[in-house]
Amino acid sequence: MALSLARRGIAVTVIEKRTGFGELGAGLQITPNSGRVLDALDLALPLKRVSVSSHGLLIRRWSDGRDLLEMPAHPERLPTPFRLLKRNDLHTVLLDAARAMPNIRLVVGRGIQEVTQDEDGVSTTLTGQNGHWESFHGLGLIGADGLWSRIRDLTGDTSAPIFTGYEAWRALAPGDRATAKTDRPRVSLHLGSGRHAVHYPVAAGRETNLVVVRQTKEAREGWSRDGDARVLTDHVAGGSQGLRELVASAAGWQVWSLFDRKPAAMAKGRIALLGDAAHPVLPFLAQGASLAIEDAAVLARLLAEALQTEGARGVPGAMAAYAAARSARVARVQEVSRGNGRTYHLGRPWSLGRDIVLRRLGADGLRDRYEWLYDWHDA
Ligand SMILES: Cc1cc2nc3c(=O)[nH]c(=O)nc-3n(C[C@H](O)[C@H](O)[C@H](O)COP(=O)(O)OP(=O)(O)OC[C@H]3O[C@@H](n4cnc5c(N)ncnc54)[C@H](O)[C@@H]3O)c2cc1C
Repeated sequence: MALSLARRGIAVTVIEKRTGFGELGAGLQITPNSGRVLDALDLALPLKRVSVSSHGLLIRRWSDGRDLLEMPAHPERLPTPFRLLKRNDLHTVLLDAARAMPNIRLVVGRGIQEVTQDEDGVSTTLTGQNGHWESFHGLGLIGADGLWSRIRDLTGDTSAPIFTGYEAWRALAPGDRATAKTDRPRVSLHLGSGRHAVHYPVAAGRETNLVVVRQTKEAREGWSRDGDARVLTDHVAGGSQGLRELVASAAGWQVWSLFDRKPAAMAKGRIALLGDAAHPVLPFLAQGASLAIEDAAVLARLLAEALQTEGARGVPGAMAAYAAARSARVARVQEVSRGNGRTYHLGRPWSLGRDIVLRRLGADGLRDRYEWLYDWHDA
């Protein structure tokens, strides 16, 4: 968001509650819809150094690894690749670019506590880890503070995140085993009853990011916690040999309880919400970060246009226009992600029907099904 605004000549202060920006051990698929936004920010080259361009998707049966659907992709023919990378590599690329912009100020270790707004702007109160208080004033506030958003609360939204009954286990394994067999780096998805797994190469193929999702009654709030590898070994015991081997080779399991939340009103006066703060997405379509990046592109464009034509008084109108432009798309992505979760985890006999549908759909059918998602361009 900060880069999109700063590139349009708007000065930004980024306030991050944690003392650093990095997060280790988890991968991200950055699909062409948001990849185009990053390309427009001149990040294609640094991203190329740290990511892998996917050659498609392979959907397999959990129990025996049998192929259900293969959708090849040809990155060399795509203007924007389907990127696979580590989350902290993406953070580093964004952070380096932000540090190079003189009109971006980064403030870490300070969390937003309170917000007030009037006709002239927004005032925020921040607290630091040592209890130190500060205040900031600006023309507007963009809340990109995630699922448990304080800023969403401060806009008066009293809805709470709801536990979905899923938890995601994430770890890294050395090397890229799947590619070694096929010579094509890609995303592999294993579908089982009440469970699924996704893996893909990251770090230019030096590591494999592995996510295993299972159903559970236990929910824990917060970003993540350490996972006991033995629990997961049991969980994949009925899986294919390849999957079991991959799980056995992975280390540093982190567990996320997955919560859902209905979309927020994305704008209130001079305050806008974006990303998970506005519309958390279950990870079954790999779109949460991509939607946040799309949100940022649209909001930055509308804010820049409003500031140019109307000055500071145009900010609330730009934020309202942003909410109107984004609400249908983000709600659709949320809904499709929820549906994928249900379909992925079907047990017998329904899973047999799903597998037949997948085989009939084929690569072209699957591509057509997601054209609306990946072909998105900002106006
Ligand atoms: C298992 C799993 C796999 C996923 N895979 C993908 C994928 O492949 N592709 C994809 O696009 N998405 C994926 N996602 C979703 C993606 O991780 C999220 O949608 C994305 O991180 C949301 O970004 P965000 O910036 O909105 O929020 P966050 O990433 O949650 O960032 C919020 C930030 O705000 C800070 N903060 C919080 N409160 C305050 C405060 N009061 N003041 C200041 N700062 C504050 C936090 O410290 C944090 O740094 C996945 C999610 C999971 C769980």
